[in-house]
Amino acid sequence: MDKKKISIVVPMYNEQETVRILYRELNKVSRELVNNEMEFLFVNDGSKDATLEEIKDLASKDERVRYVSFSRNFGKEAALYAGLSNAAGDYVAVMDADLQDPPALLPKMVQMLDSGQCDNVATRRVTRRGEPPIRSFCARCFYKLMRRLSNVDIADGARDYRLMKREMVESVLSVSEYNRFSKGIFAWVGYETKWLEYENVERAAGETKWSFFKLVRYSIDGMMNFSDQSLRISSFLGLFFTVLSFLAIVVEVIRALVFGDPVAGWPSLVCIITFMGGIQLFCMGIMGQYIAKTYMEVKNRPHYIIRETNIISARKNN
Ligand code: UDP
Ligand code: MG
Repeated sequence: MDKKKISIVVPMYNEQETVRILYRELNKVSRELVNNEMEFLFVNDGSKDATLEEIKDLASKDERVRYVSFSRNFGKEAALYAGLSNAAGDYVAVMDADLQDPPALLPKMVQMLDSGQCDNVATRRVTRRGEPPIRSFCARCFYKLMRRLSNVDIADGARDYRLMKREMVESVLSVSEYNRFSKGIFAWVGYETKWLEYENVERAAGETKWSFFKLVRYSIDGMMNFSDQSLRISSFLGLFFTVLSFLAIVVEVIRALVFGDPVAGWPSLVCIITFMGGIQLFCMGIMGQYIAKTYMEVKNRPHYIIRETNIISARKNN
């Protein structure tokens, strides 16, 4: 069998404690993959700590280590995009730096792709052990809502961690939108996907880069990017309340005709006005969000800017 090249793309933001641990683990699995050529592509997403120095040190000792380093923090999605753009492998894996995506699964994934049974092996956590319960709860709600609202199917507990064939990587890259939600994009491009399941692993070192608030924002992004249902919700609410207020007017007119017009009713009026105002603002907010996203896309800015890299023909930005 011909030698397949495997690229492992790892986005890193303030991961100075984990770089070395990860490298050690990757080294271990690459010994099981001796029939393959390996490439470790570390994307430094504008870390403020010594992540870049650690990576450069590794790169100077091991030529399999490639890196691109951003001019500032562009976010994990941009880092993934940069990694996929610059990966040279026939198979490309994306993986977190903190070993929550066990590298030990790689040989199995490679074998599955080799056997030709699928184009892409994805992973999903079956437990969320060690995660704050409120976070697990919200995550589960998000996936449920996402499945209902949009037409892409994202499994509960799905990770970004996966191994893809070249064709799929190119397809993912061809979806070049600025507001990215990778899990949605992976599902959207299709291809034959097999799922591997594993138990949640806690971070090896360092701490999570996602605050609760950041996650909420990310979820809203995900939902908006893959569905226009929320625009429909706002039209529906608009219609519903228009009909309701029309009925209310009829009732009020009849009531005034039959019973006269005592000045009572002022409180209910205020209630109705504020309520309607609220609904209107809510719907306008939803529309505004889409307009804002359209604005960002239309500006067509690069996803990331590379300040430093050891890849000669790096795609500097995109
Ligand atoms: N990450 C990144 N840029 C960011 C935030 C995170 O490249 O702005 C990387 C981070 O270094 C890690 C991965 O994304 O490799 C997942 O982050 P983390 O482990 O903090 O997320 P969690 O597992 O807690 O969801
Ligand atoms: Mg993590």
